[in-house]
Amino acid sequence: MKSPNTDARKVILIVEDEPDVVRLLAFHLQRAGYRVAHASDGLTAINQAFDHKPDLVLLDLMLPKLHGLEVCRLLKQSPVSRNIPIIMVTALTGLDDKLKGFGCGADDYVTKPFEIRELLARIAQHLQASEARSSRA
Ligand code: CA
Repeated sequence: MKSPNTDARKVILIVEDEPDVVRLLAFHLQRAGYRVAHASDGLTAINQAFDHKPDLVLLDLMLPKLHGLEVCRLLKQSPVSRNIPIIMVTALTGLDDKLKGFGCGADDYVTKPFEIRELLARIAQHLQASEARSSRA
């Protein structure tokens, strides 16, 4: 069970090592009413997801210390984090990478440069779906 939290805003964990992209994402997410957490490498991402259980993870693939695909696989393997929706955000546009992303359990996949309104729409959709899942459980 979640601990009582007076702040009802959803928390989005941005996993990204490029400061410019982090700033851009954080700006738009906060403006859309989300709280933002950030990890700049794969290991920190795992720890943050386990400790703080964000409502959704935006996951870059090319990360220091641990590749995004490994991060995704580990998060989706653990009962602690497997229900957190993961949207991969990456410059890799090849079909192989996309398929690998889905193969490791990612819920969605957005390629850079992304359209921020599309990304926000996808985030809202996944948050809604995961809320529906957890209220049925
Ligand atoms: Ca990167």
